[in-house]
This record gives sequence, structure tokens and C-alpha cells, in this order.
Amino acid sequence: AVVCHEIMKFYGDMPVLRNVSLTVKTGETLVIIGPSGSGKTTLIRCINRLEKIQQGTIHVGGALMGYRMKNGRMKEDSDKNISMLRRRIGMVFQRFNLFAHMTAIENVMEAPVSVLRMDKKEARRKAAELLARVGLADKLTYYPSQLSGGQQQRVAIARALAMNPDVMLFDEPTSALDPEMIGEVLGVMQDLASQGMTMIVVTHEMEFARNVADRVVIMDGGEIIEQGPPQKIFSSPENSRAQVFLNKVL
Ligand code: ATP
Repeated sequence: AVVCHEIMKFYGDMPVLRNVSLTVKTGETLVIIGPSGSGKTTLIRCINRLEKIQQGTIHVGGALMGYRMKNGRMKEDSDKNISMLRRRIGMVFQRFNLFAHMTAIENVMEAPVSVLRMDKKEARRKAAELLARVGLADKLTYYPSQLSGGQQQRVAIARALAMNPDVMLFDEPTSALDPEMIGEVLGVMQDLASQGMTMIVVTHEMEFARNVADRVVIMDGGEIIEQGPPQKIFSSPENSRAQVFLNKVL
């Protein structure tokens, strides 16, 4: 589970997240939508501590991200502890960020071998299984440059899954893809959701939000202006800014 409690984030004097609270239960898929610049990417980056927050708390799998209690006070956590916690979080970005000099299977094996010290043979077996799960059983030894954008993004998903994360974060995973490849990536994500993965997804794909999300959050101006089940959000949003946004995108 992921629990954000009243988080505040500033860039300089400018608030980019204002009092954001949300809970994603284990096995749930939360989809975050909202206009450009509303803070969606920043929120995702705060959850895995690529960005610091100035107020509030974030718990992932029961662990407080970025801080620890010492003598009853919150202290900044060490980089080492933060990277330990980050291992529990799988992250898929808009750009695929694969290692260009490694094949698909080597990309997926890399972190289990170098970070978890997994036996190479075991890591290879697991990587092959994960690549099959994302529909790439026949591309194990291809380099990223030999794969389409959609295939690269599916390798990126397999690579994140290889660490057995508690939660998967997706930041506009299909925004950089040609239209014909969007469906294959969303299909893999839909499979993951139905298999019980806990997921937070920032996307502009409203059909995905409608069909796959357990809950949808609408952000605007750094705030959550609406959240609820997709049926409710898409048919009868209460907030007027949410109505304006949905009228534009639906
Ligand atoms: P999009 O849908 O366009 O990706 P978003 O909802 O993900 O937008 P963010 O990228 O989180 O929005 O940006 C939120 C606000 O924070 C914007 O006003 C942006 O200009 C600002 N911002 C983001 N990163 C930085 C930074 N490193 N320094 C200063 N301001 C930033």
C-alpha cells in the first residue's frame, strides 16, 4: 500500500503539491489525471523520493519514505536507507531508459544480479519468464535499438518487475509512443492490474483510466480536486474545475 498524508512540495517559493493525501491499497490501481503542469509527475517522483517533500508523510509498504524517527523527531533518512526502500518500488518512465549496450534479457537481469546478488542462472530464468509475460519471449537477445518503442517499454516494465516491487509507478508510459504501439503497453499494464499488482499510473489515456482504474484522482494546480471510482468521476464529477477538464479530454 501507498499512503500520502498532507504532502506539500515547493520549487523555491512556488507550491507544486498542496496538501495532497491519497491511499492506494494493496492490489489496487490508482490512475492520476489532470491538466499539464498540475503536479502529476512531481507527485510520482515524490513517492519514490526522487524529489523531497517539505511537509507531510509518504509510506510505502508500511515504511516511511525519506525520514526516520529519532528521539521522537523526524530526521532525514540516509541515502542508503532510501535506496533500500526504493527497491520496493518499480518505476516506468515516459522514456524507456534501457541500457543501450545490453540485450533485453540483460537489461531485465541487471538489477537482480548487481543489487540483490541473485545467482546469474536464476536471474536469467526469471528474466526470460518476465519477458514472456510482457509478450517478448522471442526478443530476449535483441538490443534496445533493434526493438520498437512499444517493445522497449515492455522490456522496461519487465525490468521493473524483476525486483518484485510492492508497487509499480508509471509516469505517462505511453506518451512517447507511436499510436499503434500504445495498446500493447496498456494491455500489459491491464494484465498486471488484473493480476493484483499495486499500481499508480499517470496517464492521458482516459479509456485506460475508465476501464482499469479502481480509483481515479484528478489533479489541478497541485491539488487533488476530485477522487473516486471511475464510473463516478467520469459521469458526475462534483468539482467545477474537474468538469471543465473532463469536458476537454472526453
Ligand atoms: P504534464 O502532464 O505536462 O507532464 P504534470 O502534471 O506532470 O504535467 P509536473 O511536471 O509535476 O506537472 O509540474 C508541476 C509544476 O511544477 C509545473 O508548474 C512545473 O513547471 C513545475 N516544475 C516541475 N519541475 C520543476 C523543477 N525542477 N523546478 C521548478 N519547477 C518545476
